Amino acid sequence: MRTTTLIRPDAADRFHCIASACEDTCCRGWAVGVDRAAFNKYRQLPDSPLRTLLDAKVVLNESPADKSLPPHYAAVKLDPGLACPMLNEQSLCRIQAELGAEFLCTTCSTFPRRIQKIDGLEEQPLTLSCPEAARLILLDRNPPGHRRKVLHHLTWDDTTTAPQPLRTWFWPIRAFTLATIHNRDYPLWQRMFLLSAFSRRLDAIACGELNCGFPTFLREFESAVLSGSLRAAIENVPADLHLQLDILLRLVHLRLDPANPSPRFRSCLQDFMRGIGHPASTPAQQVSSYRENYSRFYAPFFASHPNILENYLSNLVFYERFPFGNSLFLPDAAPQPAKAFSHLAIQFALIKGLLIGIAGAYKESFSAAHVVRLVQTVSKRFEHSPSFLSEACALLAERGIDNPTGLTMLLRN
Ligand code: SF4
Repeated sequence: MRTTTLIRPDAADRFHCIASACEDTCCRGWAVGVDRAAFNKYRQLPDSPLRTLLDAKVVLNESPADKSLPPHYAAVKLDPGLACPMLNEQSLCRIQAELGAEFLCTTCSTFPRRIQKIDGLEEQPLTLSCPEAARLILLDRNPPGHRRKVLHHLTWDDTTTAPQPLRTWFWPIRAFTLATIHNRDYPLWQRMFLLSAFSRRLDAIACGELNCGFPTFLREFESAVLSGSLRAAIENVPADLHLQLDILLRLVHLRLDPANPSPRFRSCLQDFMRGIGHPASTPAQQVSSYRENYSRFYAPFFASHPNILENYLSNLVFYERFPFGNSLFLPDAAPQPAKAFSHLAIQFALIKGLLIGIAGAYKESFSAAHVVRLVQTVSKRFEHSPSFLSEACALLAERGIDNPTGLTMLLRN
């Protein structure tokens, strides 16, 4: 028998909104998902100017698939300037001011938390779209879940070969994933390769293509990681900075929306472009700057702050219920671990690539504050886009790099 600690995020207990001291605001630039209960409350209000506004601006989502999970039943239509139409002239929320906090939809009343219950245990991962949440999580020097006073454990039979749905192994999979992200015996890009291979095998288990079953597979994979027997194969994957920079620019273009000009996003992009000399320099010169920025500024900074990117990835694991996503709560939906890993890798490649450019812009002054600002801004810009990840996956497939080797080429420098 084996015992696994159920690792759950612990930052929400320490989070406090800094309100007027916040350098951004949660009410600007993204579509707020509205849950069914709040939508129905709004439709039952007596006639009033606010009721008229709610009728016009809170609209049902068209996709039945989206509607099935909270908070996607409906959405707030933003103003042309991308502000929430519910804000009054003092930038206060009219729903809260005129009706009370109990009329806020779940998204607004819980932001930046995502409240989810897994096997009867509630957890509240935070989105890094909030600057204060990003600071709290990224700069934490403790491993995830470390501060929890009460820990739960799962004791399971690690010799069983009886076929079980992959969902059965959610907690051991989470524990292994987080342990790999924080395993400093390997450089971070190699840990990502290990997770890529791990996810592919989970896919095979979910499809019934791997005969040995999860417990045997996990034991063998852990042993390979411990012995380093996969290192030679990992080292054979080449770094391709031309490809990396090209894909990075294409990913950024997917969310360059002139109708949605976020000043923070634009400022981050200007720093990035300054760092690599885009577009004034030739592509070869940009790649050369990108390479130099990595070795002179990015790598030394993260060598002395290894927790920041580990925390970024761990938070995604919690927030996305990696590698299950929504399938964790939809019994009929099949998990797609390899696809979930691609999403993780794309988001990480985007953050890493932009930070390499920004490190070149600030050189020796490159700091944790730059990292927090970039991660928060990119999370807000990309994480809430319903189409970004599927478009990004299509881009990788088109270039033939939607596989462990291709994804690693995006992550190795
Ligand atoms: S983004 Fe975060 S810190 Fe800023 S106002 Fe919203 S909840 Fe508060």
